[in-house]
Amino acid sequence: MTPADRERYSRQISFAGIGEEGQRKLLSSHVAIVGCGALGSFQAASLARAGVGRLTIIDRDYVEAGNLQRQWLFEEADAASALPKAIAARNALGRINSGVRVTGVVADLEPSNIGDLLGECALILDGTDNFETRYLINDYAVSWGKPWIYGAAVGSYGVTMPVLPGQSACFRCVYPEAPAGPQPTCETAGVLNSITGAIAAIQVADALKLLCTGLLDPRITMLDVWKGGVRQIELPPRDPECPACGKREFPHLTGERRAPISLCGRNAVQIHERSRTLDLEDLKVRLAPLGEVRANEFGLRFFYQPYEMTIFPDGRAIVKGTTDVGVARSLYARFIGA
Ligand SMILES: [Zn+2]
Repeated sequence: MTPADRERYSRQISFAGIGEEGQRKLLSSHVAIVGCGALGSFQAASLARAGVGRLTIIDRDYVEAGNLQRQWLFEEADAASALPKAIAARNALGRINSGVRVTGVVADLEPSNIGDLLGECALILDGTDNFETRYLINDYAVSWGKPWIYGAAVGSYGVTMPVLPGQSACFRCVYPEAPAGPQPTCETAGVLNSITGAIAAIQVADALKLLCTGLLDPRITMLDVWKGGVRQIELPPRDPECPACGKREFPHLTGERRAPISLCGRNAVQIHERSRTLDLEDLKVRLAPLGEVRANEFGLRFFYQPYEMTIFPDGRAIVKGTTDVGVARSLYARFIGA
């Protein structure tokens, strides 16, 4: 550790739980953050300030004005230029702590790329907004014995829980299936920036403890910043019948359970199209007679009232203005090609 590091991290080094040895471990740690929205952007800023040496930030989305109320790393200019969140986050983190090596990945976490994206990190933090991706993370983490920390928030309520494969119950022990029926989302119920910050802060504290000491009491924390109430309970014991950590079946990892996703917080559907490279310049020319087109090096936005399509060079598209997967697929087929 350099004298500059000692000065910079002096308040953490003075903290008995971390000390100089713990700080050294943080500086050589690699954490992946999946989803860089309200939870993920807080986690990323906090871990960068704490001196975690390497961060991989994975996000498929771009910054919008409606994100700025709670997504700590982003600014008006990021929304105005529709910058991908992973890129805007990398830029902001570079200004916060230039000593941290940040990799921003503009992609959806999928069975086909999860090994490449999460293979090198020691710990995974959940900043996603959907059960499907969490089951994928859980399958991957359990199969490789890698810890991850679940977090979720909506309205004024949030919950967080570490998963320590081999030690604690896993995500599927606690949530065997995704909840059925309509659930409150950030779009229907809103969300306070204080609950996302509080949940992300607990995830970060658990992350630091795990990275510095290797030890963590697996507890579920439930918190409501508006109605009041903080509850912590021990994780239930592992379920020997759990498909993931009991029977070691990983259907999410093999892609058997994959489907298009409706995004939280927006009236939108994402279409996954794998291994398809799009020439955005060519597409821009083709779409221009049909509606307004805006493009930058990271993506193209096409306005076709009442819909708005954002198309990425890897063939993914986010269709805004509908939650109907069929409508989204049909627009994709119509304008990009099936
Ligand atoms: Zn389990």
